Amino acid sequence: MARKGERRLVIVSNRLPVVMEHNDTGWFVRPSSGGLVTALAPVLRDRGGIWIGWPGTSSEIDLTEPLAIGTRTAGYSLKPVSLTPQEVQNFYFGFANEVIWPLFHDLQGSCNFDPDYWATYQEVNFKYAEVTAETAGKGDYIWVHDYHLMCLGRALRQLGVNSLIGFFLHIPFPPLDIFLKLPWRFQILRALLEFDLIGLQTLRDYRNFLQCIRAVIKDVRVQLNGRIATIRFGERGLRVGAFPISIDYKAFAREAVSEEVTERSRHIHEELPKRHIVLGVDRLDYTKGIPHKLDAFRRLLTQHPELREQITLVQVVVPSRETIPKYQDLKMEIERMVGEINGLFTVWGWAPIIYIFRSLDRDELIAYYRASEIALVTPLKDGMNLVSKEFCASSVEEECVLILSEFAGAAAQLQNGALLVNPYDTELVADAIHRAFSMNRVDRKYRMHKLRKKIRENDVFHWVDSFLKAAIGRDLHEFPPLEDYLPQVELDAVSYRGETAAQDFLQGAS
Ligand code: UDP
Repeated sequence: MARKGERRLVIVSNRLPVVMEHNDTGWFVRPSSGGLVTALAPVLRDRGGIWIGWPGTSSEIDLTEPLAIGTRTAGYSLKPVSLTPQEVQNFYFGFANEVIWPLFHDLQGSCNFDPDYWATYQEVNFKYAEVTAETAGKGDYIWVHDYHLMCLGRALRQLGVNSLIGFFLHIPFPPLDIFLKLPWRFQILRALLEFDLIGLQTLRDYRNFLQCIRAVIKDVRVQLNGRIATIRFGERGLRVGAFPISIDYKAFAREAVSEEVTERSRHIHEELPKRHIVLGVDRLDYTKGIPHKLDAFRRLLTQHPELREQITLVQVVVPSRETIPKYQDLKMEIERMVGEINGLFTVWGWAPIIYIFRSLDRDELIAYYRASEIALVTPLKDGMNLVSKEFCASSVEEECVLILSEFAGAAAQLQNGALLVNPYDTELVADAIHRAFSMNRVDRKYRMHKLRKKIRENDVFHWVDSFLKAAIGRDLHEFPPLEDYLPQVELDAVSYRGETAAQDFLQGAS
């Protein structure tokens, strides 16, 4: 067995997996939501390790004690990186959210290529590197997450860190002609080459990345070997692969049949008697295609008046990046459209859309998943989309239908059971809702059974194992067991809580 201190898993991401809150008694820790947290928290909890990231508070507050209390029995420790308000502004809101986020989601028209953002991005990556270099031991595996930290590998090398370092990009990697718009295209790709393994969500992202590397970096040699490519560049050799992220399937399936969730789900249906519930759950973001979805729903009610009073869209929008004007405009646009559609079609006892603008707790979210007949997941582009997988895992009766955008990373794995749609084609989306509504029970069961099997066999633990196998030739079982990493002090738990050739092409099917 590995001795304490050897080969821990060190996760580095923009944010720590907690939200810091303040009340009369001081600072305390609350679990945060989001795809990355949902995916990694159970893994670290099972295996132990360290998570490094920004806690989301001002750099002047000493968070050592609340973080220690918050992770008391979590099975891993948290190490904060302090950022000044100016750094948060230029690094997070600026470079990450006004440059990389829109560009990598193919929305180059929404980018603000401010050179100050780039300067701060590099400085902040260096700051994360300093904390990581101080924290990680020689034998530890450093796993860096997402687009905020693409220069971290290079900064760590500059600090003399020779450990194996992996990187996983949770968002899509754009096609060459879009990536080339980035003024710092060479620097970003060159920095990425300092990682030992680069993981991308889908084969589409993997192909885009390799095409960009070949086009931008001179003297690079790429050797393809199935889903893993080897890149040789000077003395360096690194690997690139597609590793679709997933969910803790068993936890969702188990929680969906709990008494609490069953009761809540029954209650939701009692409030909407004899109606088909079409569920949308999206973070407030222009990549999620919420206005397009609302437009499709309006079209459905216009073209199929017989569905009025038979069907209700429950649209949950989770607040996000609300200080950014583009997000404020989007919120207003959604609320205007919801108001307009409800104003147009509501009759006594039925409103077409129930709009919820807040984050749901986990039981409530699973109750909505379980209560709904149809999930309408129509992002314009998405790295993976965990909501689509969580919906299927929670659909324990296997009688529900998933309508999924062909531009979500999840479509590659779920194309055989879901109704795939082009989210820009609002007529097609309206048709898909009609088709899902009219689908017979046998078809629904057949499709959902296939979807659930796929997700069960490719859950988040499989994702971590596959990445680490490619990273170090070993899987999670090689890491020290949990008891070696429990904090020594007595501390409190944080409960963290298609079908066409075009679609085959998009999903990278051979
Ligand atoms: N989620 C949540 N509370 C909510 C709605 C969603 O915690 O009210 C979680 C959901 O369980 C999922 C994540 O937020 O794990 C959203 O992940 P996804 O990949 O679908 O989209 P992202 O927000 O990461 O772009």
